[in-house]
Amino acid sequence: MLEATDYTVIPPFKNEPYIDPRDPETRIKMKKAIEALRSESKEYNLLIGGKYYSTERKILSRNPADPSEIVGEVSMADKSKVDIALKAAYEAFEDWRFRPAHDRVKPFLKAAQIMRERRFELDATMILEVGKSWIEADADLAEAIDFLEFYSREALRYDGPQPVVQVAGEYNKLKYIPIGVGAVIPPWNFPGAIMAGMTTAAAVSGNCVLLKPASDSPVIAAKFVDILKEAGLPDGVVNLIPGSGSEIGDYIVENPLIRFISFTGSKEVGLRINELAARHQTGQKWIKRVVLEMGGKDCVVIDETADIEAASAGAVMSAFGFQGQKCSAGSRIIVVEDVYDEIVEKIRRKTEALTVGDTTDPDNFMGPVVNEGAMNSILKYIDKGRTEGRLIIGGNRLKTDGYFLEPTVFADVSPQATIAQEEIFGPVTAIIKARDFDHAIDIANGTEYGLTGALYSRIRERIERAEDIFHAGNLYFNRKCTGALVGVQPFGGFNMSGTDSKAGGRDYLLLFLQGKSISEKIVL
Ligand code: NAP
Ligand code: MG
Repeated sequence: MLEATDYTVIPPFKNEPYIDPRDPETRIKMKKAIEALRSESKEYNLLIGGKYYSTERKILSRNPADPSEIVGEVSMADKSKVDIALKAAYEAFEDWRFRPAHDRVKPFLKAAQIMRERRFELDATMILEVGKSWIEADADLAEAIDFLEFYSREALRYDGPQPVVQVAGEYNKLKYIPIGVGAVIPPWNFPGAIMAGMTTAAAVSGNCVLLKPASDSPVIAAKFVDILKEAGLPDGVVNLIPGSGSEIGDYIVENPLIRFISFTGSKEVGLRINELAARHQTGQKWIKRVVLEMGGKDCVVIDETADIEAASAGAVMSAFGFQGQKCSAGSRIIVVEDVYDEIVEKIRRKTEALTVGDTTDPDNFMGPVVNEGAMNSILKYIDKGRTEGRLIIGGNRLKTDGYFLEPTVFADVSPQATIAQEEIFGPVTAIIKARDFDHAIDIANGTEYGLTGALYSRIRERIERAEDIFHAGNLYFNRKCTGALVGVQPFGGFNMSGTDSKAGGRDYLLLFLQGKSISEKIVL
């Protein structure tokens, strides 16, 4: 497909369009894909150095809408398999690191094409494995495809000539080379996009990867590495080692052979990785590179000039899309007092209209939360909320075996309340009253996080000021605070939200590269 070294032979990057769940043909295809997935083999294995390994211990990946349904039985890696994967990755690295980018991008671009062809199967996998709605699952897949396409183009750009100043009598250049063998540790909430994006960024840059998927979403990761293999990615470049983070996580992170750790997940685990990776181990030849993208306590700010209808709709979408289980979820709604009562009532009515249920049915907007532990933790926050605010809607678990919670809104919450400070990661949002615009921005900035934020206002001067003082890695005006697009809104947060890696942006691949400066004295 790509013969030239010139990356202009690839068409410019364009975001992948989404399916339309209302289209009758799409409905038939998705229903068929869900049935097919239910009837296919449930066994998934490790993939190390191009070889599949079945192990005795399995992760049982369950459907959170009906936990008795097993979506996949996935072999688990122990420490000895981590060692085998490291060996395979080092063997592959000796060749992969020297391949020109125009060679390295081929399997990723081909994989993107296979993902388009298997779109309904992959969407169905995320619907059953983590309870995504059709729209959320397809947006996740489209983002995964975007990452493969975008980072492939970026790899070509970084492999091309880099500007340096030339001096007389010398030829000077700067070359970006990969850094080594590392670990990719993604979360379950964007089980396609973040898993595939982090893996692709590292590997397409010439590094070799141990991919440890989240234990709630190993099946979609197993399908992705199969696709990479089918697309011709050399053995050992990406190795799949599912396993419990608490069992093998520290072993991977502390391993002296690991050069980098690319992590997305909770603040607690991220900080632990940061600390362990910073310690030098015997035989370790480098300072480990650590990329950490962590939690958020994101908000939608609404001032007295806002389009009330659009602002309340945006706030509700931000709070409850994928059951509030997004790092960017709008778990605080900060409203200037002049329009407070009106907004509270609109949010209540819009939340009341949301449908909750099994997301194999495309008419359900919200599905279950990911597992029992998550559900219990969210229910505890709801109990806390009852003492910290006025419950205006929701608050209960649905009476089924699935982990369904009602979308829940508390009003009159103090900015310092627990439910206004801690990441809940579920369908719960807190409405907070502000005196005026400035007070609202102070509240918005008043947590340890700084991932996403939105402001609804019609005053240009406020929008411009918010651009300076609203401290969030991804800031939106007059639209919801979720749904960043690859290439359009590079993604990453400030403070305890992480290292601000800006996934899907032009700086991201640098995290997996190192610059080599080369000078040659011209000998006549
Ligand atoms: P998590 O519990 O921190 O897990 C993330 C990953 O780390 C999983 O693969 C997990 O494996 C692994 N892990 C657990 N303990 C480990 C250890 N000691 N060493 C190494 N790895 C370990 O987070 P999550 O529940 O999957 O995801 C939700 C969190 O991710 C939220 O806080 C959310 O805000 C954040 N997030 C942030 C972004 C962003 O871009 N900033 C994007 C998405 C999500 P197991 O599954 O086996 O435990
Ligand atoms: Mg599951």
